[in-house]
Amino acid sequence: MSFNVARKRMVAEQLVGREIKDQRVLQVMNEVPRHHFVDSGLWIRAYEDGPINIGWGATISQPYIVAFMLEALELQSTDKVLEIGTGCGYQTALLAHLAKTVYTIERVKELFFKARQNLKSLGLRNIVLKLGDGSLGWKDYAPYDAIIVAASAPSIPKPLLEQLAEGGRMILPVGGESHQDLVLVKKVQGRVLEKTLLPCRFVKLKGQYGHIKE
Ligand code: SAH
Repeated sequence: MSFNVARKRMVAEQLVGREIKDQRVLQVMNEVPRHHFVDSGLWIRAYEDGPINIGWGATISQPYIVAFMLEALELQSTDKVLEIGTGCGYQTALLAHLAKTVYTIERVKELFFKARQNLKSLGLRNIVLKLGDGSLGWKDYAPYDAIIVAASAPSIPKPLLEQLAEGGRMILPVGGESHQDLVLVKKVQGRVLEKTLLPCRFVKLKGQYGHIKE
């Protein structure tokens, strides 16, 4: 099966088949080559219905979870987005197609360089990468219309809340070892509204507002 066929099938079965409806999200997941972000030994697994280990304790999330989070963010093509946990850059590439500019932070040096290379070779230019502790956010470019966190936090990191724009949306997994939930946060007229959407399982957020302060 070619990658294009496998990808179409992933979208039809794993996303449309499970009620992902946002046409822009479906289109971009049909276009961005997920296999490009993993080592060639893992290409065969690139469009499977599950997470993929990418080393250094990181995983690319299951396609359905990525689509679910992107749909929940209701991204506009004019949005400025902050992503915490670049990993190999797959979700960053999707965000770059859906929003105007993506600011993304990864704390593992090897993944940061890998993601930078992966994204550069796809010719994406509206992405700014940073190596550092994303639990602190990125004040220089705040506020953000949307924030997405790809690792589970013990609670919503305060700096991220502060850096969310009025009318902004944030999605992140919150919880510990045994139980986590995807939480959608909205800032409406200065008030913070939280909604629990789905149980999930992510790798842990490290850093100052993470589980492990290193
Ligand atoms: N979205 C990624 C998935 C990455 S998995 C992808 O598509 O590949 C979660 C990532 O969060 C890991 O790469 C991990 O190193 C990173 N991470 C954990 N704590 C972090 C922190 N405080 N700041 C930035 N990145 C962090």
